[in-house]
Amino acid sequence: MILLGPPGAGKGTQAVVLSKTYAVAHISTGDMLREAVKGGTPIGKEAESYMKKGELVPDEIVTGIVAERIARDDLKKGFILDGFPRTVAQAKSLDDALTKLGQKIDLMLYFATSDGVCIKRLSGRRVCRKCAAIFHSTNIPPRSEGVCDFCGGALYQRDDDKEETIKKRLLVYKQQTQPLIDYYKKARVLREVPGDLEVNELSEVLATTFNEAHLA
Ligand code: AMP
Repeated sequence: MILLGPPGAGKGTQAVVLSKTYAVAHISTGDMLREAVKGGTPIGKEAESYMKKGELVPDEIVTGIVAERIARDDLKKGFILDGFPRTVAQAKSLDDALTKLGQKIDLMLYFATSDGVCIKRLSGRRVCRKCAAIFHSTNIPPRSEGVCDFCGGALYQRDDDKEETIKKRLLVYKQQTQPLIDYYKKARVLREVPGDLEVNELSEVLATTFNEAHLA
């Protein structure tokens, strides 16, 4: 399953819920790239400058890490792709990689979300440095300010969640990622969900959508 939508649509938050409910893996290219940056790996060093500017990391880098990840044995039950693909070239390379593995995309959830909601969510988002859990200063506040409810790690604001970079990321989404809506409509796997809903309401819609798609 793929989760597609603008930054701030709630894909990461919902991916965590879905992955727990259905016991399938959550694969976030953003998280994988941030880990690589933190670890100072060659991929991280190359990706960092693009990420800081709110631009997409080149396709070859991202498709490489995803192809490697989905070929592992732990994904036989299925998986949720969050933040990938983001370009038509990535979607095509994903199709090729899945064909080789004898798999296919069953469902693409498109989070239709307004710019104003995305901006509010991204500017208030706080992330755990240790376990990457997502909070929001007003929508999903942690029990104790600045501290992760799950592991006690410190919460921080992502560099690319600052105002100027948020605007750039929304623009990049419109130019490079939105064309994927048509791509997956043609593949007959797209279902649209209202990304403006608050977390629990959206989770309920997703559960219904998931059941209707006969994947539960
Ligand atoms: P995210 O956590 O999904 O918002 O991703 C954070 C940043 O990582 C993006 O702004 C991009 O710079 C980079 N990134 C994540 N996924 C991809 C992708 N599929 N293609 C290119 N760049 C990506």
